[in-house]
Order: sequence, then C-alpha cells, then structure tokens
Amino acid sequence: MRSLRCANTTSFSTVKTCYKVLRHIVATPASHSPPRQTRTMHDMYETLALYIDGEFVSSDGRKTEEVTNPSTLDVLGHLPHATTKDLDRALAAAARAFETWRHSSPMLRSEILRKVGQLSRDRAQEIGRNMTLDQGKPLAEAVGEIMTCSEHADWHAEECRRIYGRVITPRNPEVRQMVLREPIGVCAAFTPWNFPYNQAIRKVCAAIGSGCTIILKGPEDSPSAVMAIARLFHDAGLPPGVLNIVWGVPSEISDYLIRSPIVRKVSFTGSVPVGKHIASLAGAHMKRVTMELGGHSPVIVFEDADIDRAAKQLARFKLRNAGQVCVSPTRFYVHEKAYDQFLETFISTIQSVKVGDGMDPETQMGPLAHARRVPAMTKFVENALELGGKVLLGGEPLDRTGHFFSPTVVTDLPEHSMLMTEEPFGPIAPITRFSDTDDVIKRANSLPFGLSSYVFTNSLQTATKAANNIEAGMVNINHFGSALPETPFGGLKDSGIGSEGGSETFEGYLTTKFVTHI
Ligand code: NAD
Repeated sequence: MRSLRCANTTSFSTVKTCYKVLRHIVATPASHSPPRQTRTMHDMYETLALYIDGEFVSSDGRKTEEVTNPSTLDVLGHLPHATTKDLDRALAAAARAFETWRHSSPMLRSEILRKVGQLSRDRAQEIGRNMTLDQGKPLAEAVGEIMTCSEHADWHAEECRRIYGRVITPRNPEVRQMVLREPIGVCAAFTPWNFPYNQAIRKVCAAIGSGCTIILKGPEDSPSAVMAIARLFHDAGLPPGVLNIVWGVPSEISDYLIRSPIVRKVSFTGSVPVGKHIASLAGAHMKRVTMELGGHSPVIVFEDADIDRAAKQLARFKLRNAGQVCVSPTRFYVHEKAYDQFLETFISTIQSVKVGDGMDPETQMGPLAHARRVPAMTKFVENALELGGKVLLGGEPLDRTGHFFSPTVVTDLPEHSMLMTEEPFGPIAPITRFSDTDDVIKRANSLPFGLSSYVFTNSLQTATKAANNIEAGMVNINHFGSALPETPFGGLKDSGIGSEGGSETFEGYLTTKFVTHI
C-alpha cells in the first residue's frame, strides 16, 4: 500500500518534502487499486468495498446489502455497511490527512485532479457499463456522464490553482490587512442514485481541490460509480485519508458523521425533505452546508417559439434518465395558440422513444432505478385522474421484468394536483395551457422550489422578462445548457443552498480569515 504520512507538522520544509514525494507518486505509474473480484456472468461488475485511509475494506463479517439490476432484477453484488468503528476510523483518517493536505501545493492538487480526469476518460466504458447495470440508464447516457465528469475533474484542476485572498488598503499606512481563504476542514458528503458519478465527483473534486478532506456516503442502490471514483483517486496518487468512502443506512451514517466535531462541512444532494433534515442537523452543530435539492422545473413555451423544435427537444430531454433528474422539465405551460401543435409533436416524439434494458444499444430510456419509484409514479397518475386529468399516453408500469414505467403525458390538470405541485422524478409530463405572460411567470414561481427553468421564445423582450422574473437558480432559454463544469449549478428557495461548478465551486469549502498586523 502506498503510504504517505506527512501529518503532525506544518513546517515549510516538511511540506516541501511531502510535495516532492507526492509529485513522485503522481509521476510514477500508479500502484493500481486491488484487482476486481473473480469474473463471472456479471462479469465485470465492480468489487464493492469501503475505502478508508487509503485502503479498500471488504465486507469481512460486516452487514451487507444486495445490489440489484433494475432492468433484470439480478443480484450484482453485496455492499458492506460501515460499522461505527469504521466511521471512527474514517473520521480519524480524514482529520489526520487534513493536517497535511490543507498545506499541500495547489499545483499538486491540480496534478492529481488532472490525472483523475484522464483516468476517468480511460475507464469511461467500464465505469459506464457498471452504472448501467446498477442504475439502469442507457449505456450511452452512462458513458456520457463519465466523459462530462472527466471535464469536471479538469475544471477543478484548473480552478484550484486560482484560489486567491486579497489585501485591503489600510487607514493607517503602517498596517497590513489581508484576507485569507483557507480550507474549511473535514467534509461529509451524501450523494444520490440518479447521477451516481456526477454528483459524487463534483463534491470530491471541490473538497480535494480546496485542500479539504472528505468522507463520502454514496447511493447504496447504485454504488459502482462511487467505487470507481475511489479507485481513480487512489490510482492517481491521492494520499491516504484525503478521500474516504462509506456505506450503510443513510440516516444512521449522516447522523453519526454530522454530529462528529471532526466534520466541519456537510454537502448533500437529494430530496428536499431529507435536505431540510440534514441542514437542520448541521445547523444545530453550526456546520457549513451545501444543499443541492429537488426542484419542479417549469417550462414555458411561448407562441412565437419554434414549436416543433421545442416539442421534440423537450420530449427527449424529459425522458433522459427516465425523468429521474433534478433539473428535468416537469411542469409544462404552453401558450394556448401553440398548444395543439406542441402536444401532437411532443406525444409523437415520446412514442418514438425505445424503452428497455440500458445495456441494449437500441434503448433510449431505461427502467426507474428502484422498485419504490414505480408505485410513486402510479400515485401521481391516480391523483391526476381523480382530479379530472386526461392521460393521453402511458400511465402504467410496463408489463415486463424490471422497474419500468411507461412514458406518460397528462393534460387538463388543476394547478393544485400532485403532478403540478410535487416533483414527479420520473417519466411523466403534465402539460397545461396559458394565455398571459405575467400570469404564467406567476404560476411558474408559485411553488417553494427554484432549481431550473426552461423558456422557449423567439422574442428577446420575452426572453429577458422571463430571465429577470423567474425565481430559479438556472434559466435555460431555447436550449438546455445547465451543469457544465464551468457554469454554477444550484437552486433558490427550497431547492438548495450554494452552487457547485463554475468559479463558485470552492466557495462552500473555504473559510474567510482576516489578518491585520502593524
Ligand atoms: P429519499 O428522499 O428517501 O432519498 C433521496 C436521497 O437521499 C437518496 O440518495 C437517499 O439515500 C438519501 N438519504 C435519505 N435519507 C438520508 C439521510 N437521513 N441522510 C443521508 N442521506 C439520506 O428518496 P428516494 O426514494 O431515494 O428518491 C426520491 C426523491 O428524491 C425524488 O422525488 C427526488 O425529489 C429526490 N432526489 C433528488 C435528487 C437530486 O438530484 N436533487 C436525487 C435523487 C433523489
């Protein structure tokens, strides 16, 4: 095992020595992470383990949970749960590693992140295939997620070299006044199952790039992508303890880590209710939070838009990852004069989408990621029918093995229906009419969420009005442009606190210290 313990000292010469050693590790062909388990039919599925203090820890008598394929229901592997002792070990390792990592050169952090980006590209097919097996999304989408995330690593590699403080001109010329940005400390992060690679790697890159250490609990249902991230950083030469991965019962792990005095920052991506619970726990212990929560993204299609183009693009975008996307278009407001044309093209595009096992190269939409999401979809449809809604397409689980739900289009819904007020997080599109611009913006802003939003218009005046008045962290006009590494991603209102990506990415991981001397 590669071991590097530069801890317990902060002297400049020692830090320099550590830097040289680390440079050597990065430059030397990596001592590869342990070989994957014996290959059988599920052939190449990831070996599941904890990753603590630079070591992959197997189940070894620990409690485990089954990981299944949502398309076939086959068991893929067994995920070990961390014991309290494991969590204490991860906390101690992260605390110890922080004492060295906080002083590491940004050039070194950059070099490791750059290497992670490259390894991620090299392994995209393998990581993507494992993600399709345990999450269900089509292989092309999975591999696309890995490739985009390789760019996230590149972006953080660039930006972490540009974390600056500032000097403030003093009132007294003999005084010096400086503002220092310092890494906040040990971070605890909790990431979900819909984009298992994307959501985890963004948090890990931001923490590590800023000089923090991190303990991450990934999604137990779809764990392979997070395991792959541990291997990437391990193989890229990250010192032990800087990144630790644990699994278990989500509420038990988050409760234990957030209460620990070692943890100084908490980052969560997931649902609004769980986010509020975690933020309140973090607040009780006065810990910094970044919250990327759910939304209920309004789509406004004005009559002057290119209606067929908008309908086709929105239909395909709606079914990406079977609609299990926090920025998925979820409430459609279409101008009454464009409504019929929009609906016809939208429905025919949805009908042309091939639903199936994500491993089939023809598949364009896979299953829902878990059994529990199927009755959740049915509940939305039942509520719509009770309130007089019309189901124009789909509305039911598919009659086949796996957690499949048919792409669904619902119209004529009242504003207070479940579909118009709660995030469906699945392949259901509720479509309504509007006639007045001010009124539709008011309807778009009527919910407590404010993550993403979509506007289709050919009028600059309408586009500007929408951009200025929609309450959302992201406003996309005539295209889908969110979630690039160089752009900030985050929500307003109940949809979250803070941003990931863009030049804002390190904000949540840095403290501000004022130093003055005479
Ligand atoms: P859920 O609310 O039970 O869980 C959401 C995520 O939070 C999961 O990854 C889960 O493991 C995790 N989680 C739950 N309780 C936790 C706790 N106490 N501590 C730490 N992590 C915890 O719902 P679900 O059935 O998994 O997903 C359905 C809902 O979650 C959807 O309706 C959607 O709104 C939301 N969701 C949002 C995102 C997002 O990207 N913002 C991602 C996944 C799920």
